[in-house]
Amino acid sequence: MKQVAIIGGGPAGLAAAEVLSASGHVVTVYEAMPTFGRKFLLAGKSGLNITHSEDFSTFAERFGVANAYLRPALEAFTPNDVREWAAGLGTETFVGSSGRVFPKVMKASPLLRAWLKRLEAEGVALKTRHRWVEFDGNGYCFDTPEGETIVRPDAVLLALGGASWPKLGSDAAWVPWLRNEGIAVSDLQPANCGFDVAWSEMFRERFAGEPLKSVAATSDAGTFQGEFVISRHGIEGSLVYAHSAALRDHISDEGQAALIIDLAPGRTAERLSRDLARQDAKASFSNRLRKGAGLEGVKAALFRELVPDANRLPTGDLAKLIKALPIPLLRPRPIAEAISSAGGIRWSEIDENYMLKALPGLFAAGEMLDWEAPTGGYLLTACFATGRAAARGMAAWLAGG
Ligand SMILES: Cc1cc2nc3c(=O)[nH]c(=O)nc-3n(C[C@H](O)[C@H](O)[C@H](O)COP(=O)(O)OP(=O)(O)OC[C@H]3O[C@@H](n4cnc5c(N)ncnc54)[C@H](O)[C@@H]3O)c2cc1C
Repeated sequence: MKQVAIIGGGPAGLAAAEVLSASGHVVTVYEAMPTFGRKFLLAGKSGLNITHSEDFSTFAERFGVANAYLRPALEAFTPNDVREWAAGLGTETFVGSSGRVFPKVMKASPLLRAWLKRLEAEGVALKTRHRWVEFDGNGYCFDTPEGETIVRPDAVLLALGGASWPKLGSDAAWVPWLRNEGIAVSDLQPANCGFDVAWSEMFRERFAGEPLKSVAATSDAGTFQGEFVISRHGIEGSLVYAHSAALRDHISDEGQAALIIDLAPGRTAERLSRDLARQDAKASFSNRLRKGAGLEGVKAALFRELVPDANRLPTGDLAKLIKALPIPLLRPRPIAEAISSAGGIRWSEIDENYMLKALPGLFAAGEMLDWEAPTGGYLLTACFATGRAAARGMAAWLAGG
């Protein structure tokens, strides 16, 4: 029986604690904040999307280039396993119309409460207000309400999260500490984020907060249908997040990017052109847009914001723009506002046990590893799965060592 420390009490760290305690080790979870799983709880505020019901190969492909690395962990803790695990903690789930899986109660708090209770019953020591602040030789130094303390466990798992929403605890302070130890860490970047757009003052004041429903959007990522929201700074919401990795990378490579919006996905450009041409030439432009193309409210306003001389265009050109309206993007919103972060500890730095090759006995899991995925339950599933995989890796290493 060995002493193990898990630093970071989010989904990845708690998932690891569960596996390590079941394998008979003495487990302590150290969490910087006064309570565990704050980001997990926030994720539950807008409906906790815990996993996805699509077939497993499609599911695994959502992780892009990281798929190859993550796949063994995901195979060992599949979306079905996530649902069974949650049910074991009293949280039944259901498949929404989009295939996304949610707890019936939609929120995270009952699941987190039951999870922490079960971990404590299994003998896991849960320590809050313990902030890891630096390496100390072969020990780990923590700031605690009682002052500084140094622990020297037999093995340590870092599950410190990425860099989004730092006020919830994951502030990425670990990045320079690991780099100082020679560990390669890809820069953390916003993922599933909004983008800045140079709206006119009038458009911003009048339409910030308004959703654009039933539209399609295209970028290098492909074409998806859904909805997004005009924000004071630009655009945000699920349809934008689905494109955010491609748009972010395009901006960093080319200095600029545009999200192409189809404001009338149900009609072809030819049909729109005919419908617009049929309108009374003496009618106001707003009326022609409304009656001929079904554009009104925020959709019409967005069109006119981005195509100021629209009323002088021939109907064929108008129709083409309604079908492919480029929204020019300035930059991603700051990482502190993003749902998740891309980047993290490079896969070349960890072995198949999730152990840092350069620092034997130190493991890592969750969002601090170099992968990203869209929203849809992929993030939490991969955090649970990598937490469990790293815990199994640690148990194997402890048994071997
Ligand atoms: C608004 C929002 C909505 C979301 N919705 C969903 C969703 O519906 N579905 C989904 O799949 N994902 C969602 N996510 C993403 C998901 O919550 C994260 O990917 C997941 O929580 C990451 O888990 P983690 O354990 O790797 O890190 P975290 O959850 O960030 O946990 C890391 C923990 O480490 C602690 N820590 C950090 N540094 C230290 C230190 N030095 N010492 C001690 N402790 C430290 C932090 O306080 C934190 O508790 C959402 C995220 C946000 C922000």
